[in-house]
Amino acid sequence: MTTKIGITGAAGRMGRTLIEAIAASSDDLQLAAAIEHPESSLLGADAGELAGLGKNGVVVVASLDAVISNIDVLIDFTVPAATIANVQACAEQGIGIVIGTTGFTAEQQAIIDTAAMKTAICKASNFSTGVNVCFKLLDMAARVLGDDVDIEVYEAHHRHKVDAPSGTALSMGQVVADALDRDLDKVAVYGREGQTGARERETIGFATVRAGDIVGDHTVTFAAEGERVEITHKASSRMSFGRGAVRAAGWLKAQNAGLYDMQDVLGLK
Ligand code: NAP
Repeated sequence: MTTKIGITGAAGRMGRTLIEAIAASSDDLQLAAAIEHPESSLLGADAGELAGLGKNGVVVVASLDAVISNIDVLIDFTVPAATIANVQACAEQGIGIVIGTTGFTAEQQAIIDTAAMKTAICKASNFSTGVNVCFKLLDMAARVLGDDVDIEVYEAHHRHKVDAPSGTALSMGQVVADALDRDLDKVAVYGREGQTGARERETIGFATVRAGDIVGDHTVTFAAEGERVEITHKASSRMSFGRGAVRAAGWLKAQNAGLYDMQDVLGLK
């Protein structure tokens, strides 16, 4: 049966990629609505043309409310405040929502957790299949290498990214911390400068680079005396995220209320 998908932030970098990913997916996934914010200059544009495809007849509109009854699942890659409003609207209507936005506060995350009691939500800091395989590898590496190594997370993204470290870097740190039974809030070190003193073994360091058009690089280093293991993922196109999010939307339609992630979609749990 067809899954009718709506996209918020349709004119954004990921929005356009998602329109393309739906067009390239199987026939049972269909773009049914494209939404931008009320001040967008692209309201009224054809969503297919926005994504560099031919016309698809789906016109960009200013309000989720106007189209929510026409969709089965919403995919939202926007900004935290917009996502929170959209999550609440979806929860009220029992519409599933795939959340790609990153950079939520603890209060905003609590709103998402509450909404997940009413509707199915799939939220992931990174929807690429490769990154989700890396999460599995990181868990294994951390358990085996344990307290004998220093662990550092490095990430690089394009110059337009507004939050740091990336949600993916934080998820990688969380996977490692969970495997080692450490509290990430206590052991994370975000950047270093000046007289930092020697490194404490328990800490997990994060380093951020923002430059040019880098789509997304992540490396976790496990460094011991005499050897080091590095697990690296490099995204060269946003389609890796787009394909994953569209796959998640198709999967989510059949799920009960609850909070899921890409590991659930891929059956990696
Ligand atoms: P972007 O190009 O800035 O796109 C965001 C879009 O949302 C823009 O078109 C923006 O419009 C629009 N928007 C803002 N407020 C809105 C509202 N109230 N209603 C509807 N649309 C609204 O950013 P991006 O690179 O696509 O990234 C978006 C988010 O996805 C970021 O948080 C990023 O970190 C995250 N992301 C996640 C993954 C993942 O796999 N989970 C992958 C890539 C990116 P204006 O530009 O006109 O304000």
